[in-house]
Amino acid sequence: MSVIVQKYGGTSVADADRIRAVADRATDAKRAGHDVVVVVSAMGDTTDELMAMARSLAPTPNARELDLLLTAGERIAMSLLAVAINQAGYPAASYTGSQAGIITDTAHGRASIIDIRPGRILEALGRGHIVIVAGFQGVSTAYDVTTLGRGGSDTTAVALADALHAEACEIYTDVPGVFTADPRIVPDARKLHAVSYEEMLELASSGAQVLQLRSVEYARARGVKVHVRSSFSDEPGTWITQEDARMGEQAIISGVAADHSEAMVTIRSAPDRPGVAAAIFRAVAAQGLSVDLIVQSGSRDGRADISFLVPKDELDRLEPTAKELVAAISADTYEADADVAKVSLVGAGIKAHPEVLADMFETLADERINVELIAATSIRISCVVRAADEERAVRALHRRFGLGPDGGPLRSHDDDA
Ligand code: ASP
Ligand code: MG
Repeated sequence: MSVIVQKYGGTSVADADRIRAVADRATDAKRAGHDVVVVVSAMGDTTDELMAMARSLAPTPNARELDLLLTAGERIAMSLLAVAINQAGYPAASYTGSQAGIITDTAHGRASIIDIRPGRILEALGRGHIVIVAGFQGVSTAYDVTTLGRGGSDTTAVALADALHAEACEIYTDVPGVFTADPRIVPDARKLHAVSYEEMLELASSGAQVLQLRSVEYARARGVKVHVRSSFSDEPGTWITQEDARMGEQAIISGVAADHSEAMVTIRSAPDRPGVAAAIFRAVAAQGLSVDLIVQSGSRDGRADISFLVPKDELDRLEPTAKELVAAISADTYEADADVAKVSLVGAGIKAHPEVLADMFETLADERINVELIAATSIRISCVVRAADEERAVRALHRRFGLGPDGGPLRSHDDDA
């Protein structure tokens, strides 16, 4: 029989009515002849609330205890869903990550799945049960309960879909799919019918928040077909799949993403000699900070500026290290600027169309938006701009690249068939 994995986010299980609606959808899939595995997030804002409570008791709660606490959110959702499905007349059983055989490393708060032993799940499916699994959690090789990082239920779902050779991994959420831009900023943004893993990775790391980045990495590595769709309607959503599995001619640009969660850090006048960049990023890594978009200016008089982005809420942690560093490498100063945003254009067609670069900069120039840092991969161009310019930049780019409902000059097909 074919296995289908369905994952429901926090808003989709926020109250009893919504849990009943999820139960309906799961039993529909069962009646359609599938073996059904449902992965749930914690109800509504439960995870944030639990986190806030722990932080009111200790600024940095013990990592093991925090993981035990946070996993309780998903346990509440999973058991309530099992109760609802049973009430609808179908056998169902819920399992914690540990019970479901999700084995992780020991990195509390951001553990990685290293193995899945789905014996109990397969047994339960064999008995005809609808299986419900608590998202976002596993058990470590040291037998402690771990969590997979915020948004980690997506990764649970993708990993289970892989381990169970599921037909697809359906991610049910409060938006209808992946859009050409955030519809809150661009009202005529269009839902994409399909995006490649690579494009989705770039979109997710550029600020699109539909899927946890790690879940996309997992799906790409294992070739899991992911379908992001709304839990409030039956409309098809967005398929995330292999590039060549997408049908029809490809658009040059798939979407515009923006992110203002990062601050720009600059080390001014660092000596331009071997070992300096290594020293900087060794120190940053030692703080466990994730770094994005590194740019070094051309060298002048043997000195260069090095700029990069770090999450805004980690600036405090970086500051003491950065000051020591500036002294150690005898650079001039350390500057942090939290008033910035990163605007990115993503599309598999960028590599074959170098004119897109000029088009992007021209669009921003026409809007009198100054670009402070630029970075590009073969399928993404990112520009750091003033935070106040973020939304205007997104709208202008969306228009320029014809991403709206009518398509445009740079769009070679309409992929929302
Ligand atoms: N409940 C967790 C969070 O809010 C995991 C998830 O929703 O995927 O981050
Ligand atoms: Mg959540």
